[in-house]
Amino acid sequence: MSSNPNESAGPVTMMQAPLYLQYRFTAGTSSLSFLHAIKRGRLIGRRCPGCESVYIPCRGSCARCGVATCDNIELTDEGVIDKFTVVHIPIPNNPIKPPFVVAHIRLNGADNAFHHLIGEVDNDKVKLGMKVKAVWRPESEWDYGLDNIRYFKPLGGEHD
Ligand SMILES: [Zn+2]
Repeated sequence: MSSNPNESAGPVTMMQAPLYLQYRFTAGTSSLSFLHAIKRGRLIGRRCPGCESVYIPCRGSCARCGVATCDNIELTDEGVIDKFTVVHIPIPNNPIKPPFVVAHIRLNGADNAFHHLIGEVDNDKVKLGMKVKAVWRPESEWDYGLDNIRYFKPLGGEHD
């Protein structure tokens, strides 16, 4: 008979350790352009002077050329789905219940993409190359981030 009551439970192979991290982000010049614009409901990208790639959210330098981006470019809130996945696993503390679609959205005129949710379409109707448009939160809720956009929805007729 063991004197340690925990020995009979077997080895510990997993533990949960929830963490809460608070951190401060110091935005550079290019990020500030994007953040101030989206706070006002506008989408600003930044263009590379070498290859003319447009990045949104803005990058301080071009991933292809390595040079500093320079010009702010206003983009529309419409684009296409470059990649997507259907999320089936619940994310702790996330109010969105699976299954839901997360996609890489490439806005018209941009050369990169960012992650966002897809809505107003059945998950099994989402397709690569589908044209989508942002569905914004009410202006009173706008802050400094892409979550001012609630999700992207298909443009008319593309999901039938
Ligand atoms: Zn470039």
